[in-house]
Amino acid sequence: MTRLHPVVVVHYHEISLKRGNRPLFLRQLARNLARAVADVGPVNVRQRPGRIVLDLEGHAQPEVVLERARRVCGVASVLLGYRTAATLEAMRAVIGGLIEGRRFASFRITARRAFKTYPMTSVELNRALGAFVLERVATRVDLEHPEVEIVVEVLPDEAFIALDRRPGPGGLPVGGSGTVAALLSGGIDSPVAAWRMMKRGCRVVFVHFHSVPYLPATSQAKARALVERLTEWQYASRLHLVPFGEIQREVVLSVPGPARVVIYRRLMIRIAEAIARREGALALATGESLGQVASQTLENIAAIDAVAAGPVLRPLIGTDKLEITDEARRLGTFEISIEPDADCCTLFVPKHPLTRMSVAEAEAAESRLDVGRLVRDGVEGAVLELFRFPAGEPPRAVLGTASGAPSI
Ligand code: ATP
Ligand code: MG
Repeated sequence: MTRLHPVVVVHYHEISLKRGNRPLFLRQLARNLARAVADVGPVNVRQRPGRIVLDLEGHAQPEVVLERARRVCGVASVLLGYRTAATLEAMRAVIGGLIEGRRFASFRITARRAFKTYPMTSVELNRALGAFVLERVATRVDLEHPEVEIVVEVLPDEAFIALDRRPGPGGLPVGGSGTVAALLSGGIDSPVAAWRMMKRGCRVVFVHFHSVPYLPATSQAKARALVERLTEWQYASRLHLVPFGEIQREVVLSVPGPARVVIYRRLMIRIAEAIARREGALALATGESLGQVASQTLENIAAIDAVAAGPVLRPLIGTDKLEITDEARRLGTFEISIEPDADCCTLFVPKHPLTRMSVAEAEAAESRLDVGRLVRDGVEGAVLELFRFPAGEPPRAVLGTASGAPSI
């Protein structure tokens, strides 16, 4: 028998392709797939009708390529299979090799033709290849719950045969939907919110507020670890670390305790928007979920958003804590988020913050602050760090984000 030529076949959601920008979407997806596997040996990425094919001839780690590919945003599912000629004879030979010596109580063939001029229909292919399997293995056909599913995809000049289909995250390829700046705390919610934006095709720039030297640097370490993790979905990340402790100290001097949380958030939004503008980000994203804590009431959100010039996206707004936690576990951010840490918002914050602060009350509370200077201090004091995946270069610190921020 000829040597098997392994491939990973990537499927995407047709739904996202009905938007007139299909070629762009596909190019971005192919580029991201290539980046995701860049460090695991030579992989040839090919766009074919209805799917993207990763050729792995002579590749030492097809399983690693499969696992990397199935995490790329925009991927509906991946198959690890083999490439062969599009003839019944060649397909039988590959299937024969795959089932040789295997036992399985039931199976099905799932054949699909990417072009309709093939001499056999999918049903005829299913029958012919199914009969071939039944001649060799003592098993039966079960279309509903087969122990083994043999996927057969026929293109004009090649065919793919696979025994293993795994789901991907779905969504859209990162880089196709523009850039957002995500406010990233060390908590459970904001990393999930950032990931949701990636899944809808956004490149995410991260902004973290810390209170060094008033609090230890653990929140920055957590932010770095979270960004490192999330970079696995967008391959290059930029994290802005904003000094917020001094700003909070000034707020404490003139703003009464219960009003502080909303005032801190309004300052964060202004600083993050200034950074977002420089990054070419059109919107902010936060991890708020309605009613989860005192600061996340509709009234307070309205008071916070009153200072925003652009949209503040809240992808978790209608999500329960339990759902968010499950997603954080799946992403591998949960373990990082639950590390003990003194978040900047625990500093100088009273036990009972206002749950319904009007815009007028927020403005009155800010009247004795030099808001413009505080925002400038935050923006100019920010430090930018860069992250890459794969082959993670150590983050390089670049002082100041005000100008000349290097692009990656
Ligand atoms: P999280 O789990 O994301 O920390 P939370 O439920 O603790 O969220 P809050 O503390 O009210 O909620 O924060 C609301 C949102 O404000 C966060 O999801 C995040 O987007 C942003 N935020 C809060 N603290 C910081 C910070 N130190 N740096 C950057 N963003 C922050
Ligand atoms: Mg928090």
